[in-house]
Amino acid sequence: MSDTQVPSWTNVLEQRPTFVTNLECGLSGEEVASDRLHGLSSVGRPFLVRYNLPALAKSLDKETLAARPPDMWRYREFLPVRETANIVSLGECMTPLMPAPGVSGDLWIKDEGRLPTGSFKARGLCLAVSMAKELGVTRMAMPTNGNAGAALAAYCRSAGIEAFVFCPDDTPETNIREIALQGAHVYCVNGLINDCGKIVGDGKEAMDWFDASTLKEPYRIEGKKTMGLELAEQCGWQLPDAIFYPTGGGTGLIGMWKAFDELEAMGWIGPKRPKMIAVQAAGCAPIVKAFDEGVEHAELWPDAHTMAAGIRVPAAVGDFLILRAVRQSGGFAIAIDDETIFAARDDMARNGGLLLCPEGAATYAAWRQAVADGRISAQDRSILFNCATGLKYPMPPAGIPLDRHQPIDYGAML
Ligand SMILES: *Cc1c(COP(=O)(O)O)cnc(C)c1O
Repeated sequence: MSDTQVPSWTNVLEQRPTFVTNLECGLSGEEVASDRLHGLSSVGRPFLVRYNLPALAKSLDKETLAARPPDMWRYREFLPVRETANIVSLGECMTPLMPAPGVSGDLWIKDEGRLPTGSFKARGLCLAVSMAKELGVTRMAMPTNGNAGAALAAYCRSAGIEAFVFCPDDTPETNIREIALQGAHVYCVNGLINDCGKIVGDGKEAMDWFDASTLKEPYRIEGKKTMGLELAEQCGWQLPDAIFYPTGGGTGLIGMWKAFDELEAMGWIGPKRPKMIAVQAAGCAPIVKAFDEGVEHAELWPDAHTMAAGIRVPAAVGDFLILRAVRQSGGFAIAIDDETIFAARDDMARNGGLLLCPEGAATYAAWRQAVADGRISAQDRSILFNCATGLKYPMPPAGIPLDRHQPIDYGAML
């Protein structure tokens, strides 16, 4: 194999100092030591990993980075894992950034459906499970709408960690079966993701679980942060004008925002930021409501419903971090109803040949709406996140029956 075919993580020294200095609560600023297990801070909010960025900038330059294999671990200096042996990898490729097919305008799609387990949850869970392994965890649990559970199951199986996954009982069937096949214990709960989260929280002591819920451990954000690093690199270190992000727990939006700050502190990019646009479903839009009301925290969204399972998150523990990034960026939050989401999915599949997941389709619908109401120009460089492969979701029945024993009317095939 040539150097560029060998995954980045196999190419580096066995043990290297990380550039991590400590963890810091995103709300209170409370600081704690790295290299040990942490859940939420003492005020019940997420910890963010802090780095010695001047030292990082001294040890790495853009040219060195550019020569590395096209995978997530090319950004290893920006990540917290110490020992190479603890890296649990299933082949986290860089994902394509491509012009939105069949659309006129400066619109691009970052297609995260190409990652292991078919969604960008792989980025976060690859990091969380690697760090859990490094810190001696043997059992992990999480509530999930499907994709996070699938990624947890895959990486835990690969790491030799036992995984317990709790899904709402209407989670797409493909996800539940995938989680089970990848060796996790999977339970279908008659409730929503926050109800599943309560089961994990109540059981974790008795079951000796490390809680891998969104933002309740500090490292999933670091994995999702690589979306921001990758996007910046793919854009030639010139950030785009707008990012449309399908927002559930908000890990990716918070992670990208963090990536941009770190890159600026290193002098790799300037102060320009994209408008961060949080896209939610009309049937579950707590962040949109909080944004519109000008408040710092979102209220629990009652009776949450949407077929876009990944963004059916009635309450997000990192709500203030999402809202802060959206506001500081001059962006906004926007809600799209399911009918419009599926119309957008169908349009892009029929006209562009790209099957988006419903959450990705929501970002396309949001872009169309924002262009129509003038909040974004079609000439602005905008990025949509297609966070999972469209193949993981139910599709309408199709296929015309054809009897090979009868004469076939080719003229009737249009
Ligand atoms: C989890 C998920 C989201 C939401 O991501 P967050 O970063 O948690 O907000 C969006 N789309 C899909 C397909 C997902 O699986």
